[in-house]
Amino acid sequence: MTTGTAMTLRSRNRRSSGQESPEWVRISAASAIALGFRSGRFGRDFDFGGINLLLNYEDGCRSDCGYCGLARTRPGDYEDKSFIRVEWPLVRTDDLVDRMAAVEDRLTRLCISMVTSPYAFEDSLEITSRINAKVRTPLSILVAPPTLNRRRLGRFYDAGVDMIGIGLDAVTERLFRSIRTDVPAGGAGLSWKKYWNVVDDAREIFGPWKVNCHTLVGLGESDQDLVDLFVRLVDRQIFPYLFCFNPEPDSRMGLVPKSTITRWRRIQLVKHLVEKEGFRGDDFRFSEEGSLTGVRAVHADLVVETANQGLAFMTNGCPGENGEPGCTRPYGSYRPTEQFRDFPFEPTTSDLVNIRAELEVDRLFF
Ligand code: SF4
Repeated sequence: MTTGTAMTLRSRNRRSSGQESPEWVRISAASAIALGFRSGRFGRDFDFGGINLLLNYEDGCRSDCGYCGLARTRPGDYEDKSFIRVEWPLVRTDDLVDRMAAVEDRLTRLCISMVTSPYAFEDSLEITSRINAKVRTPLSILVAPPTLNRRRLGRFYDAGVDMIGIGLDAVTERLFRSIRTDVPAGGAGLSWKKYWNVVDDAREIFGPWKVNCHTLVGLGESDQDLVDLFVRLVDRQIFPYLFCFNPEPDSRMGLVPKSTITRWRRIQLVKHLVEKEGFRGDDFRFSEEGSLTGVRAVHADLVVETANQGLAFMTNGCPGENGEPGCTRPYGSYRPTEQFRDFPFEPTTSDLVNIRAELEVDRLFF
């Protein structure tokens, strides 16, 4: 019996509470508001077309990352746990698909976030096929590498998945090993090598600019670690997407402060310069500890113009069908009451005044 067949049989025979995937999924609070499952408004008006789904299981995610709201050992029932600090209401998959089909012309990007579960692969495929039967909006899967192999990635591709996201989060092997492991439970944790095997296979199967790696700023990495990874990914035509670490209460890293706004804005700017302007590591200067201390003065005009334009500070996410912003995850990196860490729309003139002050741009060149 093949592993795939064994998994299918297990999936069919499994005990279910009745509110698990694939019949049920969680959706981000912003998606629930946009689709009318919840009442509410965004603090500022903007078009919202990225719908984020999250698989749901009674026993939750089997991984135990130190910063994650869904971590297995974080106190509380899985049903009540937040993820990237936002609530994820539970809805029937078929109701969700019908609502998305009804407003398809307003949607820009759909995404299924897997969790580490033996059922996650088959359920993601099933939900993909239900969506693709009725909705034409491009679909991403933010994958759980421990549940995948090359053959399974190929099945996602054959099912019509457009892009693959890999939540690397920690940008060095040392950090990854120390944070993405279930130390309190004495478990083995996630494998850096496995994550990169999935990145490599996804890049081969899905092609250039169809794979992305989520990277978190504020887990303990240096600026130089981030720049090295951005260059490495962009060279391979893989998108680096930036997230700002935002401590989840009661998680193992719940008391670790988020990065300062100046560091965050500078990393946003630097990432944009690497991705869109071809900057390399030696265009920047770093301290011995790897903190960014400057950008070559020869680039000053371009850097100031980039900062003034504002695109560098928008949310990184999979694009819509025509390259427009697709997945914008409002409130993924900040609370609704806080200033935007990334903007799900083009920053306004007054936003840009604040951003320039936060960047301390005059002190950026050497
Ligand atoms: S950027 Fe959005 S759509 Fe793309 S993989 Fe990440 S969560 Fe999914």
